[in-house]
Amino acid sequence: SSFNQMGLKEDVLRGVFAYGFEKPSPVQQRAIRPILQGRDVIVQSQSGTGKTSVFCLGALQAVDVSRMDPQAILLSPTRELAVQSAKVCLALGDYLNCKIHTCLGGKNVKEGIKAIQAGVHIISGTPGRVLSMIRQQHLPVKRMKILVLDEADEMFSKGFKEQVYGIKRLLPLLQIVLVSATLPPEVLELTTEFMRKPFRLLV
Ligand code: AMP
Repeated sequence: SSFNQMGLKEDVLRGVFAYGFEKPSPVQQRAIRPILQGRDVIVQSQSGTGKTSVFCLGALQAVDVSRMDPQAILLSPTRELAVQSAKVCLALGDYLNCKIHTCLGGKNVKEGIKAIQAGVHIISGTPGRVLSMIRQQHLPVKRMKILVLDEADEMFSKGFKEQVYGIKRLLPLLQIVLVSATLPPEVLELTTEFMRKPFRLLV
């Protein structure tokens, strides 16, 4: 299987090749297709397997750049990971004119509000700040189509459970992609509570 055969939008595919990817990694071969089909997907996979591009491609594919609303949220357990995912989205979305905004604890809130008002498509952030931005209605959620939970096990072990549940409750019904190296009971609980007939992959 190659990137050409996955049903990626032309501009996204160009971004993949421009980024230097030639052949999809095993997790990319198995996970991208069900994500593009709109299914909820659980990817059980470690760092270093190519998982970041899996969900970045899912987000880029889901976004309609002709609408200037946030349409995808990527949640990470650390600021560094959130920045890394934003960078990968930016690189893979190079031909899409897709706007990415990082929503991180410690960042200036007023600047964040301004950036969102100027128009963004994908939010990459840490749970606490994303939740407070949604609660204060600085981050519109009406057009959200996909929620990604990266390193969900790490997110829960860092005590982000309440924030993640809080965010999910404020979002419309949407596609969920969850990535986790392990599936401890509280992550499994989240998947059974929130995800609809998830497609589960162990890579
Ligand atoms: P990740 O697991 O997403 O952090 O990716 C680990 C590393 O593998 C990153 O440096 C990616 O740029 C790289 N990578 C991911 N997918 C591919 C691919 N299909 N071909 C070549 N390198 C890749």
